Amino acid sequence: MTNFYCEHCGTKSSSVSGLTTHPCGKNPLGNNKGKHKLYEGSEKSKYTCKYCGTSSSSIQSLTAQPCGRHPAGNNKGKHSPAL
Ligand SMILES: [Zn+2]
Ligand SMILES: [Zn+2]
Repeated sequence: MTNFYCEHCGTKSSSVSGLTTHPCGKNPLGNNKGKHKLYEGSEKSKYTCKYCGTSSSSIQSLTAQPCGRHPAGNNKGKHSPAL
């Protein structure tokens, strides 16, 4: 079965609609101000931040950490997984 992940927080769902109908605690607009966003890359054993290259074994752990090269400013946002 395919799993779908939120790009912002790493929440896993078995369907796209299961993700995009629920609020995301790490949405860039603010806590629960937007929905989970589908991560459009494939499921990997390792995810790399598209801004700084930091890698982690899960989207959840990657997006939990602030990113030193985030476009909004140094540590102003979290790592974001590259596709
Ligand atoms: Zn989310
Ligand atoms: Zn990063």
